Amino acid sequence: MKTADGIVVIHNGQLVDGTGRAAVSDGAVLIEEGVIRYAGPRADMPDVEDDAARIDANGGTILPGLVEAHFHATYFNIRALEDLDIKYPVEYVSLLSSVNCRLAVECGYTAARSGGCLFNVDVWLNKAIDEDLIMGPRLATSGREICSAGGVMDWNPEFRRIGMEGLVFIINGPDDARKAVRTLVKDGIEWVKTYPTGDAAAPDINDHHTLCMTFEEMHAVVATAHNHNMKVTGHCRATEGIKNALRAGYDCIEHGTFMDDEALDLLLERDVPCVPALYFEKASVELGPEFGLPQTVIDGHQETLDGGIESAKRILRAGGRLGMGGDYGFGWNPHGDYARELTFFVNEVGLTPLEVITCATKTGAEIMGRGDEIGTLEVGKLGDVLIVDGDVLADISLLEHRDNLLAVLQGGVIKAGRLAEPFPTLVKQE
Ligand SMILES: [Zn+2]
Repeated sequence: MKTADGIVVIHNGQLVDGTGRAAVSDGAVLIEEGVIRYAGPRADMPDVEDDAARIDANGGTILPGLVEAHFHATYFNIRALEDLDIKYPVEYVSLLSSVNCRLAVECGYTAARSGGCLFNVDVWLNKAIDEDLIMGPRLATSGREICSAGGVMDWNPEFRRIGMEGLVFIINGPDDARKAVRTLVKDGIEWVKTYPTGDAAAPDINDHHTLCMTFEEMHAVVATAHNHNMKVTGHCRATEGIKNALRAGYDCIEHGTFMDDEALDLLLERDVPCVPALYFEKASVELGPEFGLPQTVIDGHQETLDGGIESAKRILRAGGRLGMGGDYGFGWNPHGDYARELTFFVNEVGLTPLEVITCATKTGAEIMGRGDEIGTLEVGKLGDVLIVDGDVLADISLLEHRDNLLAVLQGGVIKAGRLAEPFPTLVKQE
């Protein structure tokens, strides 16, 4: 991804640097050749040439670009489990995904960690983003997910004679698990996404208390993935599934819904981050009836919402790490609503806006494995910056509305927001 030429100075706003430190009321950020050279009080900023580009934050908030830590680029207006798979051919899925990626940047999300995708779309999206052909978040890629036969992602009954060719490898035993990971190795992905447990979406045979992979299968996934420098995460709701994943060596836990003391200890032992993705549950409960979700499914989402809130509180209070991301791409939880997760965590989980911003920036970058490059506004990091017209610490929900975003920068280049040029000017056809 190209970075800005010369010097860019952002001034006239409170600086929230993403480290968790208190805001600097009159802050400034100096970016040189796309890299942060100074971030702190404006009064202490080194002198710069008169011809440096200047961005006036209008008395608002200067913070790191946000990180969506559970992003599904290929999900689009999903209304039922069946929509997750090959509803459309891969050609159209790719186009839809690029629209989602552009939208993420327009919403202030300059980076994202994938939570799984159809086919191998992530890797190719990432290439197009990296080469500035399309606009999108810096992406930690995933690919097809892994779930055991009869598990939550293997819902097609036998008479249909189809599996989940688009989204999921259906495995039977550790040998199959290794085979699936080895396929992903060749595809070039970074994160292996698995399904240790079921979900409220499948109340009859694979609900949120059901295990969908054995420990042996999960261990085989981790051993193979780690050997090839890939990381492993999993959809973990049931308590025993969370523990299996942590004992198997998972690098991240998605949802972590029903944590008991032992699960929490296992999580903290290796400082494994967790991405609760709770707003999805709330949206499912609130809008489920409108979308025709059965009452048993809605009841299950309420239970996972309650359990998830409790577990998230415990993790944060115990000094654990939470990433902010939310399974966006469903009809009732569409792409573009990403920042609702942040508001939810302030209003209903009890985090302060400063805490939630740290989760959505620094921790997100750490989960991606790029904490040394992005996630905070510190010297040496890339100039991925979000400038908001208003005091985000007083009202976190300002982030929900694109109209409030003055500028979204990647590597010092303004990509979106009110101050952005139309995107095509970024691509110069020779
Ligand atoms: Zn997901």
